[in-house]
Amino acid sequence: MAKTPETEHPVKAFGWAARDNSGTLSPFNFSRRDTGERDVQFKVLYCGVCHSGLHMVKNEWGVTHYPVVPGHEIVGVVTEVGSKVEKVKAGDKVGVGVIVGSCRQCDQCSNDLENYCSKQILTYGAPYIDGTITRGGYSNIMVADEHFIIRWPENLPLDAGAPLLCAGITTYSPLRYYGLDKPGLSVGVNGLGGLGHVAVKFAKAFGTKVTVISTSLGKKKEAIEHLGVDEFLVSSDPQQMQAAVGTLDGIIDTVSAEHPLVPLMSLLKPHGKLIVVGAPEKPLQLHAFSLIQGRKTVAGSAIGGMKETQEMIDFAAKKNIIPDVEVIPIDYINTAMDRLLKSDVKYRFVIDVNKSFNAH
Ligand SMILES: [Zn+2]
Ligand SMILES: [Zn+2]
Repeated sequence: MAKTPETEHPVKAFGWAARDNSGTLSPFNFSRRDTGERDVQFKVLYCGVCHSGLHMVKNEWGVTHYPVVPGHEIVGVVTEVGSKVEKVKAGDKVGVGVIVGSCRQCDQCSNDLENYCSKQILTYGAPYIDGTITRGGYSNIMVADEHFIIRWPENLPLDAGAPLLCAGITTYSPLRYYGLDKPGLSVGVNGLGGLGHVAVKFAKAFGTKVTVISTSLGKKKEAIEHLGVDEFLVSSDPQQMQAAVGTLDGIIDTVSAEHPLVPLMSLLKPHGKLIVVGAPEKPLQLHAFSLIQGRKTVAGSAIGGMKETQEMIDFAAKKNIIPDVEVIPIDYINTAMDRLLKSDVKYRFVIDVNKSFNAH
């Protein structure tokens, strides 16, 4: 008999899945594997709603396996550990981010850069080593190899902290790697959404002067008063943009909708770096002169390795870097996705998974 998502593994699980490229999510029965000797099983308490989930449920990147259970900002409490697990024990708070597997042998893996391993396994919607499709945190129970488990600091809130597992590391890692973490530097953040607002918080914690570049003037007051942003540029205002030409050492570009890069390049000082972390569907467009003049760099970055992710979480706990979230029940998820598409959230939805499923 063909195995179904409900019967392919022994542990019963329940979540919400999208069945087709309408992207509509609805309740879904499936199963999780038994806890292997290096596995950690945990009860999911909260899961962030990342913008990539929106792309994935609609198959906008062309890689989605349906049915897809999204969610890769997952926090919970350990229920069971395998016999060889050393990192955590039952009752500990843990997190799982964007990846749950990698080859563990290649140069990237050997250098704690599992996020750049060609055999990395995404937390949801990807084939796992046992041949089944991984399922994410819009579900009541999770299991992952301990190598991909993050220890959760005691003083970091589980709900508001969840987005750090994707949005946090996605912005922390390039700020560090590209040297934009030095006090006194001027750092731009393009887009003030889930990623952008966390980028602002890390950049401020590193002591940099932060300029937000946004399409929406409506976010200015809060950005300055609440997030402590130093400058706010409205990208559609040519005078403001012109006045800021050549002022930034680097920009973290978090925008995942189509947008022109040349105006951002002009904001950079000579030798400045534009770091792309958002992922629009269409190819980016760039004028060669915007690179050549001023010896500028356009680069990318994808999440971070497990060691750096733990370092980021510990740094966030120490510096009290906590994303701003709107906690929602799971049955609000389709509305939340619609609002996310319109950037109508400050700044990340987080699903109260435990409460949602225990109410059902
Ligand atoms: Zn994400
Ligand atoms: Zn590898």
